[in-house]
Amino acid sequence: MKKQHRFSIWYAIIGMWAVLFLHNMIAGSLTVKNIPYSEFVKAVKEGKVSEIAISENEIQGRMLGSEDGAASNALFRTVRVDPEISQLMDENNVKYSGRIESNFLGTLLSWLVPIAIFFGFWVFMMRRFQQQSGFMTIGKNKAKIYVDDEVSVRFDDAAGVDEAKQDLEEVINFLKEPQRYTRLGGQIPRGTLLVGPPGTGKTLLAKAVAGESGVPFFSLSGSEFVEMFVGLGAARVRDLFKQAKEKAPCIIFIDELDALGKARGVGMAGGHDEREQTLNQLLVELDGFDANVGVILMAATNRPEILDPALMRPGRFDRQVLVDRPDKTGRVDILKIYLDKVEAGTDIDPEKIAAMTVGMVGADLANLVNEAALLAVRRDKASIGMADVKEAVERVVAGLEKKNRLINSEEKEIVAYHELGHALVAMALPGTDPVQKISIIPRGIAALGYTMQVPTEDRFLMRKTELDNRIATLLGGRAAEALIFNDISTGAQNDLSRATDIARSMVKEYGMSERMGQVYFANKQQPTLLGVVGEAGGQYSDETAKTIDEEVRRIIDEQYDVALQILAANRELLVKTVGQLLKDEVIEGDALIDLAESVTHAEITDDSPAPVKTGQDM
Ligand code: ADP
Repeated sequence: MKKQHRFSIWYAIIGMWAVLFLHNMIAGSLTVKNIPYSEFVKAVKEGKVSEIAISENEIQGRMLGSEDGAASNALFRTVRVDPEISQLMDENNVKYSGRIESNFLGTLLSWLVPIAIFFGFWVFMMRRFQQQSGFMTIGKNKAKIYVDDEVSVRFDDAAGVDEAKQDLEEVINFLKEPQRYTRLGGQIPRGTLLVGPPGTGKTLLAKAVAGESGVPFFSLSGSEFVEMFVGLGAARVRDLFKQAKEKAPCIIFIDELDALGKARGVGMAGGHDEREQTLNQLLVELDGFDANVGVILMAATNRPEILDPALMRPGRFDRQVLVDRPDKTGRVDILKIYLDKVEAGTDIDPEKIAAMTVGMVGADLANLVNEAALLAVRRDKASIGMADVKEAVERVVAGLEKKNRLINSEEKEIVAYHELGHALVAMALPGTDPVQKISIIPRGIAALGYTMQVPTEDRFLMRKTELDNRIATLLGGRAAEALIFNDISTGAQNDLSRATDIARSMVKEYGMSERMGQVYFANKQQPTLLGVVGEAGGQYSDETAKTIDEEVRRIIDEQYDVALQILAANRELLVKTVGQLLKDEVIEGDALIDLAESVTHAEITDDSPAPVKTGQDM
């Protein structure tokens, strides 16, 4: 860029010389003769001057033909002389001429000032042009790449995310001793995707990885890549990787990857060309760079489900690390970090504060402690007391409640029964996926709690019993509410929709209903004009449609009954475990194994493994 700059200056200088040269040429072609004033006066007296033009210091004019005839009509110039002196000299026959004192500095300035103004204006315009259009500086000036050469954040600065830390430990080890990993010819993982709700510390963790391994940290946000001009984002990605390679080993962190990496689609009228180009460039760079040079890519998103699947392929963001909302112990640890940084009074009890702040994430807790400190200052206190914290909780909660994230104790109880309902039904039915975690910590925007089941092996076929069990497990939440409260809540909406989808597929696609027989009733999915994949109208009679609906209804009803029976048989266990869940918010590990062992199993005869992947959100 600099080079091009200088080049242009030379062009301008050459241009100006050319203008001057031409000017001199034209002026030079009309020879003007300088003559002394006395000669001019003499010529006038002799009648040789045909015309003159008088200015303040000079007289210019034209002579009629001279004696030798050569310079007829010659132009002349003479400097004016005071008329009195001129008369005196004439009387005494002295030859005289006028002279203008030339002021060298003045002449120089009269040249330099316009040139300086011209260049000043030119440089100013160039700058403006560059800033506004970005055309000249593609990918350079405007890319807000923040490079932090020495990151001071350490793992100890983040709490309540122990599992994520364990997962990231490997990245640190690699950055510290790359040779150890590449010794046997292995490839280093290139991309790690941190997945979790906002404010749980994803950026903090990525920084901590850089801090712990002592490498530079490049960070920028996915949305900054997406520019108005097609092609700019892609250039920026290229530039980012180029800079990073120069500084390797280092970490590149892309926040809000979803802004950039949304699944590419059929988009109307070519839609988001820019985003797609940028995404493609990112994929190219991901494939093209050799991770063994020590550039590690990390990215964060809270919406992994909308990411383009191409981003997750092996060799790209193939490692996913979950950074979930902290449980109670996690919140205690986070609170301790922030309480240590302020003047906390003796009555402050992190355990109590953690109990008041279900569903809050690290960023909320940091904010909470800060609010409490501000309140204490307002009250002129020497240290922060529990009263300040309580008031701060109310303030922060009032803000959060709008976002529908904190739940009151009555709702919490319903959620606890609901989730345990899923878990107990899953545990009671033979061969379902093992339950990994039961949680009533709100997750995402709609989910108030969740029961996580993880399949033990890959499955390509599903037997009818497995699908039945899956429906029963989905309906377990609703059944528990009905059994205990004799009332039901809206929390089962998602479960019902998923159970119905499975039942409908069983009837229409898999021929699993005796009444319908082995007939395929679903129509092939077809892309429509707007790129939406939808189902074309059914090709069966209204009567068949009615029977399909009835069969779906029958399957759901039967499985709901199964769930109800299982829960009724385990009622005592259900009530007892809810107490524990309300207290700890999460049941996992050994407690979960104990629970599974105490469940009264249902009388269902199929005992082969039947992993069914469910992750029921309430
Ligand atoms: P995310 O990237 O997940 O949206 P950030 O890492 O930007 O969240 O978190 C914002 C701030 O909240 C951090 O700078 C830190 O002060 C605080 N914070 C979040 N999570 C934690 C945590 N687990 N431990 C300590 N502080 C946290």
